[in-house]
Amino acid sequence: MKNWMKELAYHYHSMRKNYPNDKLLIMFDIDGTIIDMRYMILYVLQAYDRKHGTHYFTHLKHTDIRFHENKIDRLLSRLNIPLVERKKILEWYLQKRWTPNIILKAHRPYPNVLAVIRWFQIQPNTDVGLNTGRPKALFDATLQSLNELAEEYRVHFNPELLYMNQSDWEFNIPYSKAQGVKYFQDLGYRVFAAVDNEPANLKAIHKIDTTKEIMLLHADTLFESSRKIAPKTVISGKNYDITELIKEKELPPHIQFVWHGINDEANLRQFLASNIQWAEIDVRRDPFTEDIIVRHDDFYHTPLQDDEDILTLEEVVNTLLEHNRSIKFDLKDGKVLIKDILELVDQYSLDDQKIWFNSNVELLEEEGFKALAEKHPHAILQCPIDFLTPLIISMPKKAKEILDTFASWGINRLSISWKTPYKAKILTTLEQWGFQVNIYNVPNLEAFLQAVLLKPQSITSDFNFPKWHYYGRGSGQNKKKYLYQMKLSP
Ligand SMILES: [Mg+2]
Repeated sequence: MKNWMKELAYHYHSMRKNYPNDKLLIMFDIDGTIIDMRYMILYVLQAYDRKHGTHYFTHLKHTDIRFHENKIDRLLSRLNIPLVERKKILEWYLQKRWTPNIILKAHRPYPNVLAVIRWFQIQPNTDVGLNTGRPKALFDATLQSLNELAEEYRVHFNPELLYMNQSDWEFNIPYSKAQGVKYFQDLGYRVFAAVDNEPANLKAIHKIDTTKEIMLLHADTLFESSRKIAPKTVISGKNYDITELIKEKELPPHIQFVWHGINDEANLRQFLASNIQWAEIDVRRDPFTEDIIVRHDDFYHTPLQDDEDILTLEEVVNTLLEHNRSIKFDLKDGKVLIKDILELVDQYSLDDQKIWFNSNVELLEEEGFKALAEKHPHAILQCPIDFLTPLIISMPKKAKEILDTFASWGINRLSISWKTPYKAKILTTLEQWGFQVNIYNVPNLEAFLQAVLLKPQSITSDFNFPKWHYYGRGSGQNKKKYLYQMKLSP
């Protein structure tokens, strides 16, 4: 079966090639296509219980809801709710479900649909239009709720690109969808794809598309019209899989990619076989030999392992330089390493453009960062700031004061973990304050692409992406080693 996201990528590229100067637009329906209506249904029904002191829906989960939002009577009958009650519940549901309050509180998007939208929004000369059967009275609530959900993906919907049903509720929606295509065409766009969960809408769009260039994508979620009436060219899909949509060669060229934890032969070999420019190595001093080595964990918490071959810093740096790579030194032992690192950088006459230092503020402190910045003012000097992220949101002035102090030490790149809540918001704030941001702890290809879509300055990842034939091992830290062994044992 064809993968709809892969087909969409092909189609977009061929349209781009055929019409290099046109403004291209992909249209998305909202309900059942962007918004998973099951959460709204669940929310409204559980609100009924709360209001009336009943318990009909206490154990209902969104995955139990297999009826379209217009067919809730069937769900109620399936749940064996007494007939008199059913009528009351249905009345409540119909009265509440489209109130602005519900739209703002209970709407949730399907996973990664907003990432797909973001992908098209960041393509040159390309936009995303919303074409919905909701009536105009819901214009403000619709735009506000979608923009709130979209913030986490750095997506923004502009009012001009939201087309609503010009008639009343549920009135001739397929006709309105066709009018929507004309609306976008009149704005000067060449519409290249339409995503909708109703086959009847796709049929209407197909009918007015004289050039047959609009790819019809059926979101195979919950829908009312019959699948049989869909035009033959429709491609169905259930998941917005961005790993099918985005190819390696399409990654935005200005983002710096860093391969995490090149601390052993195997990972070094994998890294050198890739196109990634930056190698991150974890630098520490071997307490037994006094050598400067690369290793993620310290020897106190993780004693030398049976099969462990320790690489010295010099060995790794030699190999990386032979292959013309850039080096990110993660100074795990903090200040005590500065003298040695600076000597090594001198010895190899490394260019500032090709070096990057990372350490925690409590390890290097002001003195350490200043010493590095003084010798290498054009190198990247980075510290993680996860401990500050709640403050960036709650006390921005204070947080900015602290970050400005770090900047005065020479720190010019701030690093936040992929697991940080409200990443997009924090990223936007830090950029507005003039800081460059790295995202680290990015676990797999899907998260990596989501991070790419946020467009930070740089991304640090294990590059364990089998789909792209990347087999990064990670830094070899103990926790992972343990998991790795667990998986291998019978
Ligand atoms: Mg729909």
